[in-house]
Amino acid sequence: MAITVHPPGSVKIAELPPLALYVHLPWCVRKCPYCDFNSHERGGALPEREYVGALVADLEGLLPSIWGRRIVSIFLGGGTPSLFSPESIDRLLSEVRARVPVEPDAEITLEANPGTVEAGRFRGYREAGVNRLSLGVQSFDDAMLAALGRIHSADEARLAIETAQANFENVNLDLMYGLPGQSIAAARSEFEEAIRFQTPHVSAYQLTIEPNTVFYRHPPRLPEHDACADMQLAAEEALGAAGFGHYEISAFARPGRRCRHNLNYWEFGDYLGIGAGAHGKISFADRVTRHERARQPLEYLKRNSFVEHREVPSRELPFEFMLNALRLVDGFPAELFSARTGLPFTMIDKELHAAEAKGLIERDLRRIRPTERGRHFLSDLTALFLARS
Ligand code: SF4
Repeated sequence: MAITVHPPGSVKIAELPPLALYVHLPWCVRKCPYCDFNSHERGGALPEREYVGALVADLEGLLPSIWGRRIVSIFLGGGTPSLFSPESIDRLLSEVRARVPVEPDAEITLEANPGTVEAGRFRGYREAGVNRLSLGVQSFDDAMLAALGRIHSADEARLAIETAQANFENVNLDLMYGLPGQSIAAARSEFEEAIRFQTPHVSAYQLTIEPNTVFYRHPPRLPEHDACADMQLAAEEALGAAGFGHYEISAFARPGRRCRHNLNYWEFGDYLGIGAGAHGKISFADRVTRHERARQPLEYLKRNSFVEHREVPSRELPFEFMLNALRLVDGFPAELFSARTGLPFTMIDKELHAAEAKGLIERDLRRIRPTERGRHFLSDLTALFLARS
């Protein structure tokens, strides 16, 4: 067997990872007070035609970096993508397919918010080629939805789920917990109601207060840390009992229904990011690069959208890899580290020992996985892999 020796720090990627496509559609009806995503209140009619044109130009600019590669999944995220008409989504997906090969069984997800969709739209998205719908339900309690500043009611959420299920077999429900004034019992009953719809995927996110949000400036009273931990446990118990596998901190899926697009991020795969504020990652045989777009939709529409396109220094790759892979409940196979970063596994020996000594990971010869403690203290765990200057 040939042993390849390469200088410390040099990247050698033998086989390029799967390639996905993320498309950011940045408008919402109203900005939610907790939201730090790149989302912008729509001022009037959306410039759908111009924006799709800019997305296509953006994609074309990336093509020289991905010649010969195929797209394995597409995610239309936002913002509120369901503000775009099915015709615009159809045009966008056709333009993408005309420029880059998309796997015939590619997972194509669209994020939709209750209150912005009616039955005809869902059917139209399906006909455009979308095959997975992710619904931003957040809560089935009107008081909680009002506290979150959401534009929809609980009944609109229920109706949106039923409409989604009439058109899509693969539906995800996004829920939030740790909401202002929420009890553990109330959070549990939210998870139970979500389960009753029998969708194949549920995501449960804890509300956190992020800088540059209204909640940061005017913080609501949130449940204590321990209560939030119990709510997460309640989600794991209720969804586990209903046959969902817990595979990532916030993600639960029935067998065979994990979100392939998100798994590709967590397994440190490649993805093109197009649209205002979108990020992407592209690997080459000897380097990993990142790209990022202008955040403001109007600036993006001017099409001088490269904010940054840089090579990730090899010493930063272990941290970037761990930031993703350690979110997975089952962790990752040891060989994935070298396959994705192109760096020798021995490079992280010391850090893995430190993480193990602190009880944050467990490992055998094949896999490295975060312990429950590691998942709860994920930022401490991943910080161990930060590049030393
Ligand atoms: S709908 Fe979603 S993306 Fe839009 S402002 Fe609210 S949380 Fe942010």
